[in-house]
Amino acid sequence: MPKVLVFIDNPGQVLKKSSLELLTIARSLGEPAVAFNGELHDDVARSLGEYGAQALYRPSADDLDDYLVGPKASYLAAAVQTSGATVVLAENSAEGKEIAARLGIKLGAGVITDVVGVEPDGTAHKSVLAGSYTSTAKATTPVAVLTVKPNSITPEPAVTGTAPATTTIEVPETATAASARITARNDKPASGRPDLTEARIVVAGGRGVDGDFGPLEELADVLGAAVGASRAATDAGWIGHDAQVGQTGKTVSPQLFISAGISGAIQQKAGMQTAKVIVAVNKDAESPVFEIADFGIVGDLFKVLPQATEEIKKRRG
Ligand SMILES: Cc1cc2nc3c(=O)[nH]c(=O)nc-3n(C[C@H](O)[C@H](O)[C@H](O)COP(=O)(O)OP(=O)(O)OC[C@H]3O[C@@H](n4cnc5c(N)ncnc54)[C@H](O)[C@@H]3O)c2cc1C
Repeated sequence: MPKVLVFIDNPGQVLKKSSLELLTIARSLGEPAVAFNGELHDDVARSLGEYGAQALYRPSADDLDDYLVGPKASYLAAAVQTSGATVVLAENSAEGKEIAARLGIKLGAGVITDVVGVEPDGTAHKSVLAGSYTSTAKATTPVAVLTVKPNSITPEPAVTGTAPATTTIEVPETATAASARITARNDKPASGRPDLTEARIVVAGGRGVDGDFGPLEELADVLGAAVGASRAATDAGWIGHDAQVGQTGKTVSPQLFISAGISGAIQQKAGMQTAKVIVAVNKDAESPVFEIADFGIVGDLFKVLPQATEEIKKRRG
């Protein structure tokens, strides 16, 4: 059975949904193992077993986060050698893709990014041209490295699962010696809202918010939603770039996506068109966003959103 190595970096107190998705895909390809980085909390260790991890690798160095991605790629390369993995799965984040590229060079492995589905023989389906097409690719090298977009599969626990045995992987000293060290980090103030890619409801704003995300934040808070944005809004500096949804931003697939003051450009749709229900608020009845909306409201978001917030509050008593 092929060995499949899943890279899980900094999971926190519980495993992220995207990590559970990677483990679920790994089980469909062969025998999953995990190359882990970060503090291993009890709940996380338990989930690794529940989702089918047969082996767990941890780095000999506990300071990989103090460097840019180079040492993580070295660690992963060593974990691939030890585990005998022929497939490596990683997150499709900017960092995940950079690590995958470096790993590809180290191992002479084929790298496939933006993967939205993997067949049991390792054939990957990629989302391309802003989600308008899906292309099919398969690495012809002995090791394949795939970065998988979140929300590509529903995570499912294994039928049986036991805690995996842990093996320490020696990270070569040269890996950190030649890498840039991070000297300071500033925590982003916590919003108390759910993570954008994992949220069940997303309220997103575009150029139409004209610099004022207040009404969106208020609606998001009564719904327990995350706040997203179009590139026009993030480029204008009205909200952080980590809120951008779309081809060059995050992919979200919530139960409900509320789009306000967004025109629905193809690159924006690429990040949200798989949402279960799309509600669009736009003052232009001809806006293309209404073509993909399940419910459309032609109106000024500064009037519509506060009314919605008030009504929801009233109904909840
Ligand atoms: C390679 C590439 C990658 C890209 N990647 C992304 C990406 O990842 N994400 C992304 O979003 N874009 C991306 N873009 C940009 C994309 O093409 C659009 O320019 C962008 O999405 C437009 O943002 P917008 O809809 O907020 O602004 P606009 O297109 O200007 O639309 C604003 C909308 O707000 C409405 N409006 C104005 N005032 C109000 C009001 N008071 N109430 C209600 N409605 C109002 C207007 O009628 C209009 O429809 C990319 C472009 C390229 C070329």
